[in-house]
Amino acid sequence: MPRDNPRNPGFPIPSGPDLRAKGWRQEALLRLLENVLAVGEDPENLVVYAALGKAARNKAAHDAIVAALTNMDEDQTLVIQSGKPVGLMKTSAQAPMVIMANCNVVGQWAKAENFYELERKGLICWGGLTAGAWQYIGSQGVIQGTYEIFMRIAERRFGGTLHGRFVLTAGLGGMGGAQPLAGRMAGAAILCVEIDPERARKRKEIGYLDEIAPDLDSALRRIEQARAAGEPLSVGLVGNAAEIYPDIAGRGIVPDIVTDQTSAHDLVYGYIPVGYDLDRVRRLRSQNPSELIEAGRASIAKHVEAMLQFQRSGAEVFDNGNLIRTQAKEGGVADAFDIPVFTEAYLRPLFCRAIGPFRWMALSGEPSDIARIDDLVLEMFPDNYIVTNWINLARQNVPFEGLPARIAWLGHGERSALARRVNQLVQSGELQGPVAFSRDHLDSAGMAHPNIMTENMRDGSDAIADWPLLDAMLLCASRADLVVIHSGGGGYAGFMTSAGVTIVADGTGAADERLEQALDNDTGLGVIRYADAGYLDALDEVAKKKIGRIEI
Ligand code: NAD
Repeated sequence: MPRDNPRNPGFPIPSGPDLRAKGWRQEALLRLLENVLAVGEDPENLVVYAALGKAARNKAAHDAIVAALTNMDEDQTLVIQSGKPVGLMKTSAQAPMVIMANCNVVGQWAKAENFYELERKGLICWGGLTAGAWQYIGSQGVIQGTYEIFMRIAERRFGGTLHGRFVLTAGLGGMGGAQPLAGRMAGAAILCVEIDPERARKRKEIGYLDEIAPDLDSALRRIEQARAAGEPLSVGLVGNAAEIYPDIAGRGIVPDIVTDQTSAHDLVYGYIPVGYDLDRVRRLRSQNPSELIEAGRASIAKHVEAMLQFQRSGAEVFDNGNLIRTQAKEGGVADAFDIPVFTEAYLRPLFCRAIGPFRWMALSGEPSDIARIDDLVLEMFPDNYIVTNWINLARQNVPFEGLPARIAWLGHGERSALARRVNQLVQSGELQGPVAFSRDHLDSAGMAHPNIMTENMRDGSDAIADWPLLDAMLLCASRADLVVIHSGGGGYAGFMTSAGVTIVADGTGAADERLEQALDNDTGLGVIRYADAGYLDALDEVAKKKIGRIEI
């Protein structure tokens, strides 16, 4: 029986032991598709997050995917082109159930304007990474990512804690909405600027924001009180970040950490320029998108100038993966790239060892299944502080949004070891149902993005997209259940290529083999990618874990 979903009432959360499809592998993928809509921002329009990141091309495509997943046999593979099912092919029970290519446009054509045109013609849609690949689990993934970034900064600069520190950020959308909770979990007093009052209200309603301040003076007063008392506090402020950041800088106030998660990557469907209200922006999207692009770049220039001013005054400032520096540079801010990107600044040593955002979803819909796996993780990795700390924190602070799910930054060999133990628990009936394993696309082998994941690679290989393409092919050869090759659309057009994977632990021996092979090959290739670029941590991991790298 599906569970009611107060967040999106027409989109129940799948659950229970009954199969609608012919096997758990198909049923699992069907439930994951339902789940991304259940937790999505605008499921009626199939939008999961980031303004345009969709689960399927259109309603007809969605319904055809559901029908195919429900009726297909295990020895068939469903082929999906940018959110539209185009073929149900005879393969073998060893092959992936679903393969996808989302939003890949050949190099010279991979530009935002071409993407919008193709989208308007109904020929393509942007999968937004995990949205189109049905792997999104709500805010938890990004809560942990943001929390780990804050903690790495805390360790480096603030004696290991953010208690008594002021974090300034903006954007409370699908992903950015996780920031207030992550900041509070790290102990900070965090101020989040958001232009859309409805978005701020939503984050307050689910408890991520402690309060919404009526104006900037009150917001800064509350932040200063919390900072002085060393108390965690998250405050929302409705306003335009391109006005508020310069205003704060103009007062001579220097936050300890500054970042931003407005949808700056997309100047038509995302970022709101100064002086434009939401209704006007909605009208201009179809009537005059170039006006929005021009005004957006001018606002982002001011926004980033203020971030640079904070940086020069001693704040830790970073780009959190929304292309704000790239837009600012286009808008004339020559030194925008003095701001580092979070991956290079804080996370690369982890990626060198293929430690990244691994995740799992309880397909039964039962929170007790995740609780049991939480215990298992604590048992299996007692000395892994990042993981044990997160599991304990998440248990207390992170509500499940759709299917109960958990995320943990595990590396090579750890992911497969955990997944195979879980598969045994499914087999023995200790868990109420199968479990799907997946990861963010922002993972060692999974992503080439020269302004986020692979910026300033040691050997200059930033823009080489061979790695995620090889990863996807290797994952197919390793019999993963769903494999996707994805590229950026909208404002990300031409900026990135990624690979995603999902594997279902249904308690069978075949799943055991799939989990071991696909997970180890995915992380193994990730380590090889960084070893190939000359990172010593990765070379060490190759030697330590005996990964099959060919060295020439
Ligand atoms: P979203 O579109 O759901 O939300 C963006 C929010 O920014 C909206 O609520 C919007 O009202 C607000 N906003 C727009 N312009 C503003 C302005 N000038 N001032 C204040 N608020 C403004 O997008 P999202 O899913 O939250 O993602 C945000 C950005 O982060 C995107 O660019 C996304 O691609 C990026 N992202 C990065 C990572 C990462 O790996 N670090 C992960 C996820 C998303």
